[in-house]
Order: sequence, then C-alpha cells, then structure tokens
Amino acid sequence: MMLPIMSECLFCRIIAGDIPSARVFEDEVCVAFNDISPQAPTHVLIVPKDHIDSLHTASTADRDTLGHLMLAAAEIARGKGFAEDGYRVVVNTNGDGGQTVFHLHVHLLGGRPFVFPPG
Ligand code: 5GP
Ligand code: ZN
Repeated sequence: MMLPIMSECLFCRIIAGDIPSARVFEDEVCVAFNDISPQAPTHVLIVPKDHIDSLHTASTADRDTLGHLMLAAAEIARGKGFAEDGYRVVVNTNGDGGQTVFHLHVHLLGGRPFVFPPG
C-alpha cells in the first residue's frame, strides 16, 4: 500500500493538521495560529498554504500571497482589538534574521509596546 508522503516542513504539517495548533484565522491563501512560544500577549504566525522557504526565495509570482499575508495580519490585529494602539509585524529571514522555520511566516505581535531597533 502506498503511504502518503509526509512533509518534513513543520508549518506544512501544521497547515495539513498533522500537528495541532491554535488557529485564529484561515482563508484560501493562509493559515494563522498562535506561536508556541509567545513573545507578547498576542503572538500569531501567519503562513501561506503554499510552501515558500523564506522572503529570500520568494519571487514576483508570490507578490499577491505576500500582500495577502500583510493584510491578514492587519485584519487579525483589528479583530484582537489592539490595532489602534499599535503592533509589530516581523518576517525573520535567513540566519542573521533569526529565521528558524523555513516556511515563510509573518509574526504578528501585539498587546504591549515594542522598542526599535529589535535586538
Ligand atoms: P522564526 O524564528 O523562524 O522567525 O519563527 C518560528 C516561530 O515558530 C518561533 O517563534 C517558534 O516559537 C514557533 N514555533 C516553532 N515550533 C512551533 C510549533 O510546533 N507550533 C507553533 N505554534 N509554533 C512553533
Ligand atoms: Zn512548508
């Protein structure tokens, strides 16, 4: 019997439901779920359903998807009630950027003030 090929990508597995997550939003393009190690009262990861390694490997073909992720972040922030106070959106990219999961994702952090530049 042929077994389905299990993705080795953590976020692809979360999107597929193989690994549980606390989803806060989903549409045809993206899934958003709570970060397992929250760095703020709200810390949501917004990930495209189609695998993209990182912002570094994204191409013009991903232009709509990238815009979609940003607008999803804004929509979730409004829904959480802190949009007017403000929030932080982060896309860690490659080693020096602190990226640890190589499925492109937008961090949405809110519910407290943030300093800039980050560490
Ligand atoms: P990066 O460091 O790549 O920008 O962000 C990866 C994020 O994924 C980290 O904030 C980390 O806490 C989160 N993360 C890692 N493993 C899991 C997991 O299994 N479930 C969830 N919900 N988040 C995870
Ligand atoms: Zn993936």
